[in-house]
Formats: sequence, C-alpha cells, structure tokens
Amino acid sequence: SAPVVAIDGPSGAGKSTVSKTLATAIEAAYLDTGSMYRAATLAVIKAGVDPSQTAQVTKTVKNAKLEFGTTPEDPFTRLDGEDAGLAIRGDDVTKAVSAVAGNKTVRKFLIEEQRRLIAEAKNGIVVEGRDIVEVVAPDADVKVYLTADPAVRAGRRASEFGADTKATAKDIQRRDTADSKTTKPLEVPAGATVIDSTDLPIVEVVAKILALLNN
Ligand code: C5P
Repeated sequence: SAPVVAIDGPSGAGKSTVSKTLATAIEAAYLDTGSMYRAATLAVIKAGVDPSQTAQVTKTVKNAKLEFGTTPEDPFTRLDGEDAGLAIRGDDVTKAVSAVAGNKTVRKFLIEEQRRLIAEAKNGIVVEGRDIVEVVAPDADVKVYLTADPAVRAGRRASEFGADTKATAKDIQRRDTADSKTTKPLEVPAGATVIDSTDLPIVEVVAKILALLNN
C-alpha cells in the first residue's frame, strides 16, 4: 500500500527535517506545501504585484510556471523554469507569504495541485504544511501535529538561516498571527497525534511517526 503521512505544525517545529528523514526512511515521496505558497509569493513579487490585490495575485499565480520536486533528496522548487529554492526563503517572500496564502483562489489552486501530487505518489508520500490533516489530505493514514516551545522554534529557524534569534522570534510570531486567519497554525487539528519536539531529537520524532505508521 502507499501510505500518506500528513504533518502539520507551526514554523520551526522541525516539520521539514522530520518529513524528509521519514520519507527517505520509508522510500516515499515528500511534499513541502509551504514552498508552494512561497513560490507563488515569489511569482507575485517578481511580477511587481501588490500581495493584497486579490484578482491580480490570482492571475499571476495561475499564469506562473511552478514546478515542485517530490523526492526527499532533491525537493526542488522552480519558477518559470529556474531553480527558486534559495529565493523562496528570502525575507521579502517570508514577509509577503501570509497575504498570498490568505487568497482563497490561490489556496484552491495550490490545494488541487497538492492533491494531484499526492495521487501521483505511487510509493506513498509525506506531506508537510498547516492544513494537510484537515483540508488537503483528511484521509491520510497517519496525521501528526508537530510542535515545540516558541523559543526553541525561533532558535531552530535562526540557526537554519544564520539569522538573529530575537528577530526570528518576532517574525515567527507575526506569521503565526497572520496565518491564524487561514490555517490556524497554533491549533491542533482534529484527529492528529501531537508530538512535541522541544526536547526530542529528530530521530526520536521520526521513530514515533514510524510506530504510528506500523500500527
Ligand atoms: O512552512 P513555511 O514557513 O515555509 O510556510 C510558509 C507560509 O506558507 C506559511 O507562513 C503560511 O502562510 C503558508 N502555508 C499555508 N498552508 C500550508 C503551508 C504553508 O498557508 N499548508
């Protein structure tokens, strides 16, 4: 069978590392839905469109050529044929992404793409995001809400990008608040198993999810 594992949680909880490690371990595909919203945002910025201009944002995202790699070893993101892996992590994208992700038509469009990629994954897939358990893949075989203390989340994000911890903490808080209108990042989705990674090494988080999968 082809397992679908849904992993939701706020930024810095360790979703990406855990999801990639798990996907590699079970030889499944990997999908980071956050990079999809980030790539859509990059397209909007490159087009010089204001993220709050709903109709223009929708048009820009639908016309952009977005490609997403789903192998955990090389989960590339391409915009109009060019690698966008670095650009989608930039400050300008991080600042604008909540506004673009709050666009209902953009969400509908990207969720359709996410479901298509999930259906395409013949050996199963690990999908990470904010609304995977409740919206994108409610029939997932395993549903996890991965969280950690705010200070730990900020520390992880900061060291990942060589940024200042205080500034990162502020940024995460701002994004949690902005995202709470659309994806409720700080709420546990119904039916999900909560894993707190504050004091738990990656391998142990992965082991817990593997145990859920083998139950
Ligand atoms: O996970 P990451 O921090 O890369 O996500 C970037 C942004 O994309 C989030 O802050 C949120 O606005 C949006 N997002 C979303 N739904 C998802 C994944 C991400 O709205 N499933």
